[in-house]
Amino acid sequence: MAERREEIEGKLSDATAPSSLANGTPKGANTRHGDQDTRPPQNGLKSPQRFSFSAEPTMEDIRRLQAEFTDERDWNQFHQPRNLLLAMVGEVGEVSELFQWRGEVAEGLPGWTEAEREQLSHELSDVLIYLLELAEKCRVDLPQAVLKKMALNRLKYPASKVHGSAKKYTEYQD
Ligand SMILES: [Mg+2]
Repeated sequence: MAERREEIEGKLSDATAPSSLANGTPKGANTRHGDQDTRPPQNGLKSPQRFSFSAEPTMEDIRRLQAEFTDERDWNQFHQPRNLLLAMVGEVGEVSELFQWRGEVAEGLPGWTEAEREQLSHELSDVLIYLLELAEKCRVDLPQAVLKKMALNRLKYPASKVHGSAKKYTEYQD
């Protein structure tokens, strides 16, 4: 499992080869759903425990499942890019509603009820589903695009320059 993680992280750091994952998104990665990752903190993050996702479904799995859902209902006629964007923004609003008037909320959502956590999982899923369908309809290969963008972010925000700083890149560039 650690070996697989190193492989993925190695590919993430390769700024010049966004298509290096020959089979698309990685499968069979690290942990079961909801497991707490007990790796030591990395990259200066102080959190003693890191949460990790299940390895599946992949982005492509979710895209395909949503495409099937849409096809079965003959809803493609409504799912043009602009409509999907607006639907996604609406779902972001539903996520926001769950955080509204609470003040700052700590990582792990201490004090939230199981029902509130379940509702949040639903709304975050709605956002992701629409995001993936929007990417599909815009012909953006999101698993590869995200690797490329993260590589660009690493170049834009070199850890040696920005460690512990929240400044925008324009404030420290030479
Ligand atoms: Mg919703």
